[in-house]
Amino acid sequence: MWQQSDWRRLTRHRNKLHHGLLINGPLGIGKLEFSFELCQYLLCHAVSEENNEPCGQCQNCRLFNAGTHPDFHVLTSELESAEGRLSLLTDYSNRYLDSREREKKTKHSRVIAVDQVRELIERFSTHAHISTTKVALILPADCMNINAANALLKLLEEPPPDSMLVLVTATPSHLPATIRSRCMTHTLAAPDAKTAADWLAQNLAASSREQIDLALTLANGGPLEARRLSDSGFLQHHQNCLKGFAGVAAKRVNPIEFAGQLNKLEFEQVLAWFHRFVAELAKFCVTGVEPYWMESVRMDTQNVSVERLCGLYDRISYYRRIARGPVNEQLAIEDLALAFQRIVV
Ligand SMILES: [Zn+2]
Repeated sequence: MWQQSDWRRLTRHRNKLHHGLLINGPLGIGKLEFSFELCQYLLCHAVSEENNEPCGQCQNCRLFNAGTHPDFHVLTSELESAEGRLSLLTDYSNRYLDSREREKKTKHSRVIAVDQVRELIERFSTHAHISTTKVALILPADCMNINAANALLKLLEEPPPDSMLVLVTATPSHLPATIRSRCMTHTLAAPDAKTAADWLAQNLAASSREQIDLALTLANGGPLEARRLSDSGFLQHHQNCLKGFAGVAAKRVNPIEFAGQLNKLEFEQVLAWFHRFVAELAKFCVTGVEPYWMESVRMDTQNVSVERLCGLYDRISYYRRIARGPVNEQLAIEDLALAFQRIVV
């Protein structure tokens, strides 16, 4: 895809790779797929000399692709595992998640817990079974709670021989500085606008150019995130969200009732959308540059307080930070909808 230069840079000196790699980059640009391929590369015994790619044929590659490699470990949250963005992710992460416990729950946890890290430490304390390296992939690494991060820190400080840890996140700032400082960070580049639009056109069935542009705009240019927004049906709600918030600001729409509608959508997608909307509104109030949606909504911004908008922006940042923890989503959305009503003074 668009990550060939990143691949070349990371695989140039296999023996010199740091034992703790932190892969980051914007949401929805393919960090997950890239990281899985990198882990396969680290385990493969017959890497292609031509392009440094895993051979796909050796015992390591075959077991890796079957989801049964004994030296490959994946730590993720229940939610991420259940979403199944990649079947291998579910196959490997299930070793560290209690599936019977999970079935009893109505809601999947968004957290990577300390027990998972402890189990990894135990498995890393033995020799590799068939490869020369033991590889662990942790994603999204920012889902580790503080106890899990502290436990992982020990592994990063005193790594067992022949072991590699690959951490993946879209928000490295949410990781403790102690973890970041013990990893080598590699930032994956987002594709340029044309590459992203071309890829999306091929991977979204029956989509118009307008839908593709809107999806990419809302996904900040990340094509996989754009596809996810489209697949989850979120795009269809874009216009309703705009009109709803304009109604709340004009006191035509009850914020609590509107929050009830938003609560039916995916929490993190709503927060990301709202964050972007508030930022665009604040920019408009300060610079007068109209956002692309203003024409269709005609929101009255005359008495909007920029100071309150900025306060609201920070409040959304706060909820985005804790969104993967035990947060009451309904109360959070209601709080934000009420705060939005108060931006008009
Ligand atoms: Zn191989």
